[in-house]
Amino acid sequence: MVVLRTVPAARKWVQAARSAGHRLGLVPTMGALHEGHRSLFVEARRRCDRVVASIFVNPLQFGPGEDFDRYPRSFNLDCKIAKEEGIDAIFAPSASEMISEPPEINVSPWRMGELLCGVSRPGHFTGVATVVAKLFNILQPNTAFFGQKDAQQAVILSRMVQDLNFPITMVVCPTIREQDGLAISSRNKYLSPQQRERATVLYKALHHGEQLILAGILKPDRIEAEMHNVIKAAKGVELDYAEVVDSLSLRKVKKIEGEVLLAGAVRLGKTRLIDNLIVRLAKKRQKV
Ligand code: AMP
Repeated sequence: MVVLRTVPAARKWVQAARSAGHRLGLVPTMGALHEGHRSLFVEARRRCDRVVASIFVNPLQFGPGEDFDRYPRSFNLDCKIAKEEGIDAIFAPSASEMISEPPEINVSPWRMGELLCGVSRPGHFTGVATVVAKLFNILQPNTAFFGQKDAQQAVILSRMVQDLNFPITMVVCPTIREQDGLAISSRNKYLSPQQRERATVLYKALHHGEQLILAGILKPDRIEAEMHNVIKAAKGVELDYAEVVDSLSLRKVKKIEGEVLLAGAVRLGKTRLIDNLIVRLAKKRQKV
């Protein structure tokens, strides 16, 4: 496994892989690798001849007062995990290698970036889309792998690929969870043992919403109110949002049908956690 620190080094490696006819997979990460990242590596390995993982704590996607400085960084352990999963190259540029100073051009979603997490993290998805577009241009993968855990990110980046004509196939892999349902996240490391216990409430609320929908309650307001109640009843947990939206447009739905996304975010002290579930309703049989 090679570690590439600069754009020219990455380009050279990519060129060699592509001219040898290899199908190239990219897994973008911010490091602090865990089982969620591992699952993306496994899928990328399965589908591609060569896999590059990027490790870059992207300053553009953190707002003022957010956790950029204390975001967990564990480069040596990350390399060990990547190697175990058969990753061929790590692209780990410095901030000055990746971000022009001062930046003048960005890639910005329109409304999709202002919904859900965008409300409390303005500019976040512009930071994400800008850096992922740069990674796509530098590493030119055939296929890029993302986690359903960050549903809004996956939807926005898929639209970016579509709207800006990147010749890249997007693969979104399922959310990997702890046994009690908590979605695995690098930010779970911030939680005290007591907060860790309480953190499962987000998954419980989403799961409760899912169960109600599957039982035939199809009013989004009712489902949202039920999810809010579960979260509000938990001690030490602050509701950011819990919404029922269309899984492709991320917009609110009037009636639940087809496929919807239940998405939520909570705060436990300074830690903000997100999670989501996709709920698919079987299509009603047409009468003939
Ligand atoms: P991050 O390092 O948190 O930016 O995540 C890098 C990629 O891993 C993103 O595409 C995430 O959606 C994905 N990811 C993070 N946590 C999980 C998880 N628990 N299950 C599946 N994918 C995940």
